[in-house]
Amino acid sequence: MANTLEPYRLTVHDAHDLLRGGELTSVELTESMLSRIRDLDDRLHSYIRLTEDLAIEQARAADGRLRSGRDVRPLTGIPVAVKDVFCVEGTVTTAGSKILSGFRAPYESTVTARLREAGAVFMGKANMDEFAMGSSTENSRFGPTANPWDPSRTPGGSSGGSSAAVAADLCLASVGTDTGGSIRLPAAFCGIVGLKPTYGRVSRYGIIAYASSLDQAGPMTKDVADAALLLQAVAGRDPADSTSADVPVPEYAAALTGDVSGMRLGVPREYFGEGLDPEVAEAVRESLALLEDMGAEVVEVSLPHTDYALAAYYLLAPAEASSNLARYDGMRYGLREQDTGELAEVYKATRSEGFGPEVKRRIMLGTFALSAGYYEAYYRKAQQVRTLIREDFSRAFERCDLVLGPTAPTAAFELGEKIHDPLRMYLSDVHTIPVNLAGLPGVSIPCGFSSGGLPIGLQMIGGPFREEDLLRAAHAFESNTDHHLRRPGD
Ligand code: GLN
Repeated sequence: MANTLEPYRLTVHDAHDLLRGGELTSVELTESMLSRIRDLDDRLHSYIRLTEDLAIEQARAADGRLRSGRDVRPLTGIPVAVKDVFCVEGTVTTAGSKILSGFRAPYESTVTARLREAGAVFMGKANMDEFAMGSSTENSRFGPTANPWDPSRTPGGSSGGSSAAVAADLCLASVGTDTGGSIRLPAAFCGIVGLKPTYGRVSRYGIIAYASSLDQAGPMTKDVADAALLLQAVAGRDPADSTSADVPVPEYAAALTGDVSGMRLGVPREYFGEGLDPEVAEAVRESLALLEDMGAEVVEVSLPHTDYALAAYYLLAPAEASSNLARYDGMRYGLREQDTGELAEVYKATRSEGFGPEVKRRIMLGTFALSAGYYEAYYRKAQQVRTLIREDFSRAFERCDLVLGPTAPTAAFELGEKIHDPLRMYLSDVHTIPVNLAGLPGVSIPCGFSSGGLPIGLQMIGGPFREEDLLRAAHAFESNTDHHLRRPGD
């Protein structure tokens, strides 16, 4: 019964069995988690805000469902952390920004609505880079999050609060968003599973927008089976988001066969170039060899426009952000400065005071890229590059079922190491950004550790709406390895 003594250590699927069997109640599980958060989170700062009252209320309701046996689902009674970018009705939602301080969401995001319906318990809002802009969670207006494996290091970003909370057992699972790598990079840095679905697989309704043509929400979990459960709960068409796809949602659990035989895995030579840490390269190569031993076929593929992805992304994402963030003017949401001044002064004071330096940098970049005379040279060119990158992947998928490579070029870097050097920070996303530009699904799973004991992530990229392929290969790999079972401090 070691599991019931430390229920916070459970996976979602194991906790579900205990909850269902009456060996554990959701209130017990939630309370044990809250007390662990109180013990550990001063140091980690994975949560910006706890929603304790809501959690207890949801846990009680879940226990009712469990007792009656009616409408019990895989997430009923399960404590989750919600990235602060999701609107949760009636709770303060800030996207890590001062400009939204005190903003209480008047409505619910579709992702959290679906999690609520499934009976999940919301522990609190997880820390993040302001408006999801960043790779280290250091751009949060509420201070950075520490990596549970080494508190002097970043948990990655922008969903770093979510990844740290999962890795430190401060929730059983979490949801994040990924515009250029923000689910997969922090998953890699914290040794957990992070899945970015195909663009359109999950509704963006009620998610505070960063770059609308790239943003996508997805699960961050302790193992692949849990990722399948969370994805199942949130995926599917939503009339409130016209970009959500009308593509049937398969039964994801059916993909967890443990078998990769006959799968063709493409390895892009461009993902093993300059800047890749040799320890990361080695862990990824060993993982490929293992998958080959397990019956997969490894083929070399080429994604020739990879080098241009970062530049294209850093025009397109800021361009979209400059438009999306125009709404924060002090009139409608959160912060208002110089209330007694002229309208233009209120705008200026509110935006000067409310946005942090990285967000301002992006707004300026984006506004410049969209301005008359520059649009053709920058924005349009970047869109053309985006098409070329999408075509690279289409060609690769003629030869393979999945593309595999590192999630990030290095393991978790030090807090403070890159925060004053935006270009170096942007380079952390060199392997994840092309996947967003192409709108494809990608997952990061633990595949080894550096000599310093830091987790390393393996990235698997699938064809459009082929999340099952990702889950199948990721689960088979996990079943033959134990990296995902190691926890910080073990
Ligand atoms: N690090 C990238 C950026 O700052 C990606 C962030 C994300 O995926 N939200 O834009």
